[in-house]
Amino acid sequence: MLEETDRIWAYNQILMILQADSSETLAEADTDSRTSAHGEKEEDAEDIAGILDRLCSAALKTGALSDDGVVSHDLFDTKLMGVLTPRPAQVRATFARRYAQSPEAATDWFYEFSQDTNYIRRDRIRRDVKWVTKTEYGELDITINLSKPEKDPKAIAAARNMPQSAYPKCQLCVENEGYAGRLNHPARENHRIIPITINNNPWYFQYSPYVYYNEHCIVFNSQHVPMRIDAAAFRKLLDFVKQFPHYFVGSNANLPIVGGSILSHDHFQGGHYTFAMEKAEIETPLVCSGYPDVEAGIVKWPLSAIRLRSADDDALVHLAEKILTAWRGYSDPDAFIFAETDGEPHMRTGQNHYRSSIDLTKKMWI
Ligand SMILES: [Zn+2]
Repeated sequence: MLEETDRIWAYNQILMILQADSSETLAEADTDSRTSAHGEKEEDAEDIAGILDRLCSAALKTGALSDDGVVSHDLFDTKLMGVLTPRPAQVRATFARRYAQSPEAATDWFYEFSQDTNYIRRDRIRRDVKWVTKTEYGELDITINLSKPEKDPKAIAAARNMPQSAYPKCQLCVENEGYAGRLNHPARENHRIIPITINNNPWYFQYSPYVYYNEHCIVFNSQHVPMRIDAAAFRKLLDFVKQFPHYFVGSNANLPIVGGSILSHDHFQGGHYTFAMEKAEIETPLVCSGYPDVEAGIVKWPLSAIRLRSADDDALVHLAEKILTAWRGYSDPDAFIFAETDGEPHMRTGQNHYRSSIDLTKKMWI
């Protein structure tokens, strides 16, 4: 991110954050930390995590960092990276310039950038455990995510005493860009988001800091409005893959009983990855009357899944909505399928995956 001409400026930014008024103060704190915290170990010059770790140790000496917990470390080292991260206007201009070459050139650049700023922490992502296993449904990806920071007890205790803040409203809101964070909200000084248009509305594109699969991105509404799965949602998904044809995009279910997602903020997840469900074959072809240009079929998959494939966006959206409406109200007590119990809806379209392939036909799974 830095060039030779940035050297002195960057060094002075680091001094400022470390509350060190001269290179001597920093050198002194650093010598101490090197012998105490890191012993003999010389870190790799390319290893951001190692360098930041050392600067955090020095900051404990200068007093710029008051406690040694993981959460305080994360807040502090993000602040350090934040002062070195280009401003949003520059980042967006670079993205737009690359996008004019190709959407892939733009995402390649932005994904690298999001790691260079340490927004995606390469050292933590490396700890994740991943493998592929053969099953009757094809080769399934198994991942164990270890890169989300562990909460430390000190931070949990401190967060309990903090007033509830309404800013940013959630972790997906646009107001996270550049936000310093606090004990109960991650620091995002080094976070940058890219504006896109989805369903004629302003939306944004960013990467997930936790990378569940390659180039795991999040596409989110500029407004903090709840997720809804409806005809417009299908349109939004197709709008995204038209702009990023090398990516897939999918949606979590919008029901709380499925868990895990931020339902209060309209968003989707995508990435540069082909999941097993996409490779699974059609087990039972379907004919949908009134939609002669849509190929449809039940996918050989452990959950109920219908794949729709067509070059006609409107047909896909209309048929998807029809299936969704029928599915939401569908019950078959003999098979223990209930549309709802005690007023709580169960039927959902989880993980709708879309991809436009090179010939611009679109496939859809429900
Ligand atoms: Zn939000």
